[in-house]
Amino acid sequence: MIPVAFDYSAPTTLDEALTLLADAGEDGKILAGGQSLIPVLKLRLAAPHAVIDLGRIDALRGIREDGDHVVIGAMTQHHDVATHPLVAEHANLIARATQTVADPQIRHRGTFGGALVHADPAGDLPAAALAMDAVFHIVGPGGERTVAAADFFVDLFTTAVGDNEILTEVRMPKKTAWVSDYQKFTRVAQQWSIVGVAATLRIENGRIAEARIALTNMGSVPIRVQAVEQALIGCAIEEDAIARATASVADGTNPPSDLNGDPDYRRHLATVLTRRAVLNAA
Ligand SMILES: Cc1cc2nc3c(=O)[nH]c(=O)nc-3n(C[C@H](O)[C@H](O)[C@H](O)COP(=O)(O)OP(=O)(O)OC[C@H]3O[C@@H](n4cnc5c(N)ncnc54)[C@H](O)[C@@H]3O)c2cc1C
Repeated sequence: MIPVAFDYSAPTTLDEALTLLADAGEDGKILAGGQSLIPVLKLRLAAPHAVIDLGRIDALRGIREDGDHVVIGAMTQHHDVATHPLVAEHANLIARATQTVADPQIRHRGTFGGALVHADPAGDLPAAALAMDAVFHIVGPGGERTVAAADFFVDLFTTAVGDNEILTEVRMPKKTAWVSDYQKFTRVAQQWSIVGVAATLRIENGRIAEARIALTNMGSVPIRVQAVEQALIGCAIEEDAIARATASVADGTNPPSDLNGDPDYRRHLATVLTRRAVLNAA
């Protein structure tokens, strides 16, 4: 279908974008890579009068170090995140999760920030960002504020980013020398996750010293599983020990039911995938 007509603007500065967004009021929409927004417009699930394209604001793109943090600009394309040496070295889990997003064409257009603000429960990056203790930088009419990952994902397709705000960058404490894996279960290649598991670990003397585990598509928002993280501490890298420590990962979750699987099937998948993710990472 053809979207409802809208005014298109492509500002070159963040201030200009914020002014355009404020002027548009409730009828404004930010365009990043367009991989989710354009289909939404074509299906007429949204009909904004003003679309503000962030693609020409260079300051929103790029990956850099800042002390003991890695910083990813909101407009950085998935391909760049998936292949960047700083991400590989200090935020390996993000690289692994991003490598599983869609196909190469979408990874060259879609952006890190766009995927996180879109907050699809089957999207792969929210769980990875949660496991990495990411902090989100958001600007709006009142200035800049920061939101921790635990508070960023509010509900289905809903984040802490307000209608008149823009996500500018995501900062993650470096997890250098941590090992990671992202396990994603799909029926066909390049599909959204039926269930996904993000795992990153620090290993010392052959045992797990620290762990971060988060689940994709096991509820309306990504879920961090701190009970399992605690159970993994001190675990030897042995299949039986890891299976015992991760067995309760799906307890208390409320996964969706659809043609891909009912909640019990998804709970089973989460248990199997968590064990695999921890073993593969280790
Ligand atoms: C066929 C297909 C398969 C896909 N498969 C997967 C997959 O397997 N796993 C996965 O995780 N994702 C998948 N995606 C989604 C992909 O990751 C998109 O890149 C992502 O959902 C949206 O990013 P975008 O940059 O295209 O954002 P857009 O589509 O441009 O925007 C998405 C939403 O976020 C808002 N927004 C974007 N950036 C900002 C910002 N900086 N500040 C405030 N608001 C902002 C927009 O207003 C819009 O509401 C798939 C997409 C397609 C089309």
